[in-house]
Amino acid sequence: MPTRLILRETERSLLRDGMLDGMFFSPVPDCPFPVFSARIEGFVLYYTPGYLVAMREAPAGLFSEQLTLSRPKIREASLLIHFARSAAEQWEVLHRPEALAPFSLTVYTSQRCNLNCAYCFSRIEEPDAVSDAMPDVSRDTILSAAEIVAQSCRRYKQPFSFVLHGGGEPLLDPRLPELMREVSAVAAAYTLPFHSYVATNGVTPESVMRWTG
Ligand code: SF4
Repeated sequence: MPTRLILRETERSLLRDGMLDGMFFSPVPDCPFPVFSARIEGFVLYYTPGYLVAMREAPAGLFSEQLTLSRPKIREASLLIHFARSAAEQWEVLHRPEALAPFSLTVYTSQRCNLNCAYCFSRIEEPDAVSDAMPDVSRDTILSAAEIVAQSCRRYKQPFSFVLHGGGEPLLDPRLPELMREVSAVAAAYTLPFHSYVATNGVTPESVMRWTG
C-alpha cells in the first residue's frame, strides 16, 4: 500500500513555505478527467479543483495508474476522480450557450465621486488622481454589452434592465443622459420592455436629480 498524505502537516508546511509558487502542473497522462500533477522535493502533488493529494514519489506511479481507471481502488484516487468528474461537468454547464444569459446590464461608469466616505473602496487621498488611474468605461463597450444583454432578453422573453452603479457617483458622468437614450434604443430595437436604475448618493444638483426622475 503506497504512502498517501492528503494535506496533512507535511503538505501544509509545503504550502506555508510558498514552495508551490510558480509550480507547473501538467495533466496526468491517460486520465480522462482534469487531474494535474507536479513534482516537489520527494513528493508528487495531484490536483483537481477542490482537492489536492500529496504522495511520496516512489509509489506515485501506482497512484497515477489508478487515475486512469473509472473506479479507482485507492480511496484518495477515487476522491480525486470524483472531484475531477464534478469539475468537468461544471465546466460543461458553464460553457453551454445558455449559461451566459444576462437580463441586466450593470455599468460602473467611473470611480469619480463627490463624497469621500471613509469605508468606500473607491476612496482615495487625492480625488483628482482617480480619473487617470481608472479610465471611464467607453460608450462602445457599453453599447456592445447592451447588444449581448438584449439578445439574451429577447431569447428568454425578459425585460431589459439597465443599472448605473458606482464605485463612484454615476450621476457625475455627463454622458449619462445620452447613454441612457442609446441603451434604451438598443432595447427598443429588440422590442423589449426597458427598466433603468441609478444607484446614487443623492448629493446631486436639483437639475440632475430632475433628469433621473
Ligand atoms: S461611491 Fe458611495 S460610498 Fe463611495 S465615496 Fe461615493 S458616496 Fe461614498
